[in-house]
Amino acid sequence: MDLELQPLSLPGISDTRPTVIAGPCSAETEEQVMNTALQLAKNGIKIFRAGIWKPRTKPGGFEGVGETGLPWLSEVKRETGMLTATEVATAHHVELTLKHGIDILWIGARTTANPFAVQEIADALKGTDVPILIKNPVNPDLDLWMGALERINGAGLKRLGVIHRGFSTYEKKLYRNTPMWHIPIELKRRIPNLPVFGDPSHISGRRDLIAPLCQQAMDLGFDGLIIESHCNPDEAWSDAKQQVVPDILDFILSKLIIRSTAAGTESLTTLRKHIDELDNDLIEVLTKRMKISREIAEYKKQHNMTVVQNTRYNEIIDKRGAHGMLNGMSGDFIKSVFEAIHEESVRQQLEVINKE
Ligand code: PEP
Ligand code: MN
Repeated sequence: MDLELQPLSLPGISDTRPTVIAGPCSAETEEQVMNTALQLAKNGIKIFRAGIWKPRTKPGGFEGVGETGLPWLSEVKRETGMLTATEVATAHHVELTLKHGIDILWIGARTTANPFAVQEIADALKGTDVPILIKNPVNPDLDLWMGALERINGAGLKRLGVIHRGFSTYEKKLYRNTPMWHIPIELKRRIPNLPVFGDPSHISGRRDLIAPLCQQAMDLGFDGLIIESHCNPDEAWSDAKQQVVPDILDFILSKLIIRSTAAGTESLTTLRKHIDELDNDLIEVLTKRMKISREIAEYKKQHNMTVVQNTRYNEIIDKRGAHGMLNGMSGDFIKSVFEAIHEESVRQQLEVINKE
């Protein structure tokens, strides 16, 4: 299904800088919200985030201040002129946030994974045109992510964007949530005009990894960033380890290198032509290889031999793997290339052998 989109039209930090949404993981007290917001606004941030309802993995954690915090966000808007953004997970949240004039809503990762919840939110949003940002589901399922976009768009909302916050894994490695960059990249390929925001805070779970993840999102051509910033991160009531003070955020943003996404220079065009030629060569070589495979199949047919001869297959995979590694490619890469070639070769041989 094609999405019917309109631009989000959100303010960037400047014409040449990405759109940045910043603020604490959770609104805790009116003082913490105002203190953080004033510092962010002073540094040029135009959109303020704060979680009012917090979905927690286990009960007993801080589940957000709830409705009490919504007037604090209205106050931020009045005092600083920043737009406000918060997470909604139910129809009731939608109703309350709209009543308090919150400017941007996002759907959290745990909610995106639940089509019933997303549909309930979509129904509650009907008739409005508030910008909606949809976080990736906790599990790496692009169709589920796209399904959520389709449900919200189906309710008539056109100002949509997505947030890449990484995916849960059983074993925690470097990141709290593995980025699996190929998933947002594929989403961008399928829906080129859909704005993508990077969420380095929830990907990393650690403040020292925010800067490189911001840069990576920019290098991949993402449109904006959503970053957790708190006036006193170590004392934060949720996600303390991943939040930074507004001045550190400002420093991180000032160091970002924004590369042009426009089509490349003369030399890039030449290099791309070169790649096109090599790709054509690859296809020709593969065609020749398949032709020989078919000749081998004729021989096997005449001599009543099986198509797959395991020793030969293992020899190919081992030798090509070693050869590829000598040329700086990963053994796994070469293995998967030759497995794919072998599979196609077997398919063609079976065709020959089974031909009347
Ligand atoms: C958040 O943005 O504070 C949040 C709860 O994020 P996620 O849904 O990505 O876990
Ligand atoms: Mn958080």
